[in-house]
Amino acid sequence: MTARGVDALLLSVGADLPYFTGYRAMPLERLTMLVLPVDAPATLVLPAFEAPRVTPLPGVFSLEPWEETDDPLSLVAGLCRSARRLGVGDTTWSVFLLGLQSSLAGAEFSAASALVGELRRRKDAGEADLLRQAGAAADRVVARLDHTRFAGKTERELAAEIAAMVVAEGHESAAFSIVASGPNGASPHHEAGSRVISPGDAVVVDFGGRLHGYHSDITRTFFVGDPPARVRKVHAVVAAAQEAGVAASGPGVPAQEVDRAARRVIAAAGFGSHFTHRTGHGIGLEEHEAPYLVEGNAVPLEPGMAFSVEPGVYLPGEFGVRLEDIVLVTGGGVERLNGAPRHLHSVD
Ligand code: ZN
Ligand code: ZN
Ligand code: ZN
Repeated sequence: MTARGVDALLLSVGADLPYFTGYRAMPLERLTMLVLPVDAPATLVLPAFEAPRVTPLPGVFSLEPWEETDDPLSLVAGLCRSARRLGVGDTTWSVFLLGLQSSLAGAEFSAASALVGELRRRKDAGEADLLRQAGAAADRVVARLDHTRFAGKTERELAAEIAAMVVAEGHESAAFSIVASGPNGASPHHEAGSRVISPGDAVVVDFGGRLHGYHSDITRTFFVGDPPARVRKVHAVVAAAQEAGVAASGPGVPAQEVDRAARRVIAAAGFGSHFTHRTGHGIGLEEHEAPYLVEGNAVPLEPGMAFSVEPGVYLPGEFGVRLEDIVLVTGGGVERLNGAPRHLHSVD
């Protein structure tokens, strides 16, 4: 904080708070904010009735509970009276930032992610292990899906089954499950709906959960029945692109090179205009966080960074294919955190 010229960090709802305190606040209208001054222990300002859910750490952070009739913003303002340069958590509600800006006239506000993001994007051994466990749990769900009947179920029914499997296999909660069948597969973030899955459908299945706060995120493409040549071909292209993206990843490599490596394979096969999103995103306490594997991001990858490599090809009116795994940058390359088979999965 001294090197970056930050006198105090103000961290509210989102992932920064659990990163520093182990406490994930509900994203509600009541103010929860960790005030972390450069030269003093931190204070967590929070609703009094939430205090029993938090364990303070003596000498590191204490609690400042507020009652329903108190003004929590004035508590925060009081705690940073001697601070001029304030780093505010990216996902702080704007109404709180606006209030602080008017009560702390003269203070400078900046995005805390410039500082906190640098810490969070390099996972330590404990965080890497939780991501590894989450990845293994996601792999076990894929193994169960190979023996799950798809035909005759709606996307929504299958998505609910997947969410239950995500929890049964060791996550504390399911974060999301995308089931995109047939032509719906051409929409990368399709929301599972009432379409009934039928023989002859390609089905993009993308899901993840949270394990001790850390996320899994995996995509496999399934086919109901025996896949025709066109689907096999597109899948082979996507699998080769994913392999190229993983192979290009390693310490010192600019993030955009991972995207370029995967995109090159898809473009060479003639599907370049059908790969419509970036190749991947960092993962940790959030499903999507830095680093982003996208053209224009030249930030060099470093050991400890964890991210997805998830190229796809989306053919409007026909089907989609995506393949996604999480990798962790090591000293010499990457460790794959998912080991589920990467072929086109044929199901009933
Ligand atoms: Zn996504
Ligand atoms: Zn995903
Ligand atoms: Zn993803």
